[in-house]
Amino acid sequence: PTDSFDLQPNATPTASPIREDILKNPGFGRYFTDHMAHVRWTLDAGWHGREVRPYGPLTLDPAAAVLHYAQEIFEGIKAYRHADGSVWTFRPEKNAERFRRSAHRLALPELSDADFIGSLKALLAQDHAWVPTPKSAADECSLYLRPFMIASEKFLGVRPAHEVDYYVIASPAAAYFKGGVEPVSIWLSSHYNRAAPGGTGFAKCGGNYAASLAAQKEASAHDCGQVAFLDARENKWIEELGGMNLFFVFKDGRIATPRLTDTILEGVTRDSVLTLARDEGLSPEERPISIDEWREGAASGEITEVFACGTAAVITPVGELVTEEGRIRLTAGSDNPIAKRLRTKLLDLQYGRAEDTHGWLTKL
Ligand code: PMP
Repeated sequence: PTDSFDLQPNATPTASPIREDILKNPGFGRYFTDHMAHVRWTLDAGWHGREVRPYGPLTLDPAAAVLHYAQEIFEGIKAYRHADGSVWTFRPEKNAERFRRSAHRLALPELSDADFIGSLKALLAQDHAWVPTPKSAADECSLYLRPFMIASEKFLGVRPAHEVDYYVIASPAAAYFKGGVEPVSIWLSSHYNRAAPGGTGFAKCGGNYAASLAAQKEASAHDCGQVAFLDARENKWIEELGGMNLFFVFKDGRIATPRLTDTILEGVTRDSVLTLARDEGLSPEERPISIDEWREGAASGEITEVFACGTAAVITPVGELVTEEGRIRLTAGSDNPIAKRLRTKLLDLQYGRAEDTHGWLTKL
């Protein structure tokens, strides 16, 4: 349905020498491409008005519901340039499905796979030159795609909005953690929870991220880049990081990740790691994992690796967990061989250096 998106071309696109300069050192989330995709929804007319138009500020009424009640959801997915110049994305139907689950929880209208994937294709048809070309296998550059949906109706009553807008913007990205596979330090949040049973933890809505920022501030004050959250009921069970899922590798080769509940965001990377681990004969487990198991397993050497995974950071080893009571460091296996192997497998797939045996790639 790419052709169902009307094109309003940007009359003043970024000059190519400037774009090429940006692509050399894009950082993350700072620069945006020349266009954005847009689809409008109203209670009366449903989804309509598919278009690709120049990137630029939105006009929102100050009474737009999203500004007051945070009726908003988003997604994060990347476009990768392969060696032959073609551009691909990774399991977009998983993001489309999660976007629908998020929409349902936030009482927003559900968008079809055809519109979700169609909007990515329609945007990339204009802005393909913004997908950076990796200089080597170690160069994890990509174009980060950010679909989002907002309640734009001008109305201060608290009820699901009757007018909604969906957009996709795109931002060239370098590797998320500058250190690559250098282990990172994580802060354990003991005052704040990210999500509660019956709440919105499993949905990708802006409010979850707003709720994580106070803990993120504590993390920064302790020189940690990410926060680990525990469950809200018992403050005992490991859930996930502010923007990544967690995996544990054990001495006997077992590998485990917290089982999904309504307080954990189901990562596309998490699901892919489970499949790749099975391909490697690793029989991964999805089960509750307590903070005591982490503390004791790290001390005894039972746990040999901990790693975080997500679209932005791929797979990143966790070197230590910094807590109010002290640091939890792994006494064994500081070399993270399993994390590194899975990371290479995943990146080789995404960048077209390995055969796509699971049919995970979609051409944009
Ligand atoms: N957990 C949270 C809270 C996240 O924001 C993300 C990023 N979307 C993830 C996990 C990882 O999900 P994915 O692998 O789909 O990027």
